[in-house]
This record gives sequence, C-alpha cells and structure tokens, in this order.
Amino acid sequence: MAQKRVAVITGGASGIGRETALKFAQKGDQVVVADFHAAAGEETVQMIQAAGGEAIFVQTDVSKYEDVEALVEKAVATFGRIDVMFNNAGIGRQTPVPDWEWSHYHAVINVNQHGVAHGIMAAGKKMRELGIKGVIINTASVFGFLASPGTFAYHATKGAVIMMTKSAALELAACGIRVVGVAPGAVDTPIIQGYKDSGMLDSMKAKVMGNKLTQPEQIADSVYLLSLPEASAINGSVVMVDEGYASFK
Ligand code: NAD
Repeated sequence: MAQKRVAVITGGASGIGRETALKFAQKGDQVVVADFHAAAGEETVQMIQAAGGEAIFVQTDVSKYEDVEALVEKAVATFGRIDVMFNNAGIGRQTPVPDWEWSHYHAVINVNQHGVAHGIMAAGKKMRELGIKGVIINTASVFGFLASPGTFAYHATKGAVIMMTKSAALELAACGIRVVGVAPGAVDTPIIQGYKDSGMLDSMKAKVMGNKLTQPEQIADSVYLLSLPEASAINGSVVMVDEGYASFK
C-alpha cells in the first residue's frame, strides 16, 4: 500500500483551513489540524473522523516559534512524517494610516507574517532532517498585491508572505522541498465579517465573477492541487485564486 501523506494545516478550525483539512483527509491524507481555537479545531477533527478520515488536533499559537516547532514534532511523533505544511492561520484587523492602533499592527504582523515564517522554518528543518521532498504552502492574499484603504498592516504581512514564499523556495530547492502560495480574493469566511459594513466587500464582490464571494472549498481545492506531485514544476509561485479579482480593472 502506498505511503500516506501527512498534512499539517494551521488555522484549521475555521474557513479556508477547515475546508482544506477536510479536503486532504477526504483524499486519504493524515491531517494535523492546528489552531489557537481548541473547541473549533477539535470539531474539524471530529468532522474528519466522522467521514472515516484520520486527524489529530494540536493547539497552536503560530505567533510563537516554540508552538509551531512542537506542532511539527507532534505530527511526526503521531504519523511518522510531514509531507505538506499549510501555513494558513491569519487575522484581519483594521489599521488605517496614519491613526492605526499599534496593538492591532503588532497582532497582525505577529500572526500573519511571523506565523508563516515560523511554519516555513519548522517544517523546512524537519523535512530536510527526514529527507522528505515535501511542499510548504502559504496563504497570501490579493491584498499582498493590491492596496485598499484601512488595512495597512494586513497588506504589509501579505506582501511579506509572497516574498518569503519565493525566498524560501530558492533556499529549500536544494533539498527538493517546494514552497508555493495561494492568494485568495474575497472568500466567504468569518475573517471578512469586519468588512461587511464598510462597503469594501460589495465593491470586491462586484469585481468577482457572478457577483458572489468565493467559497472556502474552492481555495481548498487549489491548495490540494498545488500539493500534488503533478504540480512539481510550480515552485516559488503565489497562485491567484481570486476569480480574476486582481486581473480586472
Ligand atoms: P478564518 O477567520 O475563518 O480562519 C482563520 C483561522 O486562523 C481561525 O481558525 C483562527 O482561530 C486561526 N488563528 C488566528 N490566529 C491564530 C494564531 N495566532 N495561531 C493559530 N491559529 C490562529 O479566516 P480565513 O478566511 O479562513 O483565513 C485563512 C487565511 O486566508 C488567512 O491567512 C487570511 O488572511 C487568508 N485570506 C482570507 C481571505 C478571505 O476573504 N477570507 C482572502 C485572502 C486571504
């Protein structure tokens, strides 16, 4: 029987992360769901197990390197390997220039930027140590490419995720480890609730095909495709998964 892959998914308690965990499990991979939020993370695991899949939950604060290192250790201790690391946990807080709240600014940088750096470092080290030619996938955003009002820190972090993806891909290629990213547009998850009153969401939706939000399952499908050996020539790329949002005026 073919060796099962092991996928670690941060932000797996909700939205894109939960749907990606369900997708990988449905395809037969062993899944490690990581999130700050324990009850909802355990719920993702129960959903996977109810459908006959294999998963564990590890409570993790991605802004702390020791947590992410322990997460990767737990994945290997439980399932014996790590093939996919999906650095996806993120938060969105309004940080308008020039009156931003420093606490908001630092919170967004700590989770969205440092969290991804921690995942790249911990998974990259472990894959190299075990000689696994794995793939690290990072969640960026169209907001890493395009500016919009009120989200200064968020833009900074997503721009950083794009360049960390390219830089890490270059560094890890020698070990056969790929590093890629996805850049979603407007996805129907709790993170965008804060934008519902601002009118920004309506203008984003109007640019997306069908005037509707993208569903998190659609991002999960793209993440899964990028993880496959058939995507072996895709490296250092951050793929727009935005229904054309960033391509149309
Ligand atoms: P979500 O709020 O549904 O999920 C985010 C998850 O991250 C939550 O489960 C949350 O508990 C977890 N999380 C937050 N801080 C954490 C921490 N310190 N440690 C561990 N887990 C933590 O939102 P989502 O839309 O699924 O977001 C997933 C990713 O997609 C984020 O990086 C987000 O920036 C990105 N994204 C979302 C959209 C969108 O429109 N929804 C668009 C572009 C990019």
